Amino acid sequence: ARALVEATLGKAPGGGWLDARETEQLFDCYAIPRLPQVCARTEQETVDAAARLAAPDGGVVVKAQGPGLVHKSDRGAVLLDLHGEQEVRAAYRDLTARLGAALTGVLVQPMAARGTELLAGVIQDEVFGALVVFGLGGTTSELLADHAARLAPLTDTDIRELLVAPRCAPLLFGYRGGPPADVGGLADLLARLSRMADDLPELAEAECNPVIARPDGITVVDARVRLL
Ligand code: ADP
Ligand code: MG
Repeated sequence: ARALVEATLGKAPGGGWLDARETEQLFDCYAIPRLPQVCARTEQETVDAAARLAAPDGGVVVKAQGPGLVHKSDRGAVLLDLHGEQEVRAAYRDLTARLGAALTGVLVQPMAARGTELLAGVIQDEVFGALVVFGLGGTTSELLADHAARLAPLTDTDIRELLVAPRCAPLLFGYRGGPPADVGGLADLLARLSRMADDLPELAEAECNPVIARPDGITVVDARVRLL
């Protein structure tokens, strides 16, 4: 992780956002569970990646990538649940036509199974230093602002408290007769993010949103990382 951060800052001394590949490499240093994904640069690469990554029911997701595309769904840049080569080709053409030079490639992922969409991350606070944040995720995350935070590094007690602190927490513990989510997997994710924050003071923010939590596990579907 240190070598990766230093190599990235060597190329971009002012810091800034990591691209999808750098983010994936950083997360893999901490064995953070994420979806398989491929960065494709052409229509054919996108089609080939989709054929390889398609979930058992065949659904894939194609997302535009580019240095200016931080909030992708705001730009209509996340095309979900595509089935078959024709839909994938159409999605690629639609993104390239609409986004033009803003698009440097696309990210192809399988369609994740449904679950509770959460946010988990690290932010550098001016006063307190690194905080680990946890709460409601998805595209309404900023609107509903249901998040809690604890100072990094987290203790076991911090993790237990953080998991139940947001108002949405009851959704994770068997809400209205539904099965509980993999809370142990979420605790583990918070510990891994805490370790990342502790190792890397250059981390300005690392946001996983959404993390999809299901009874059988958790997976990070989207993440963005910015270095100081
Ligand atoms: P951004 O945060 O940049 O708008 P995301 O990658 O988080 O883009 O996608 C926006 C939303 O689309 C997510 O909150 C999630 O609901 C859905 N989504 C994105 N990727 C997948 C996926 N692979 N499987 C299922 N849903 C997804
Ligand atoms: Mg997101």
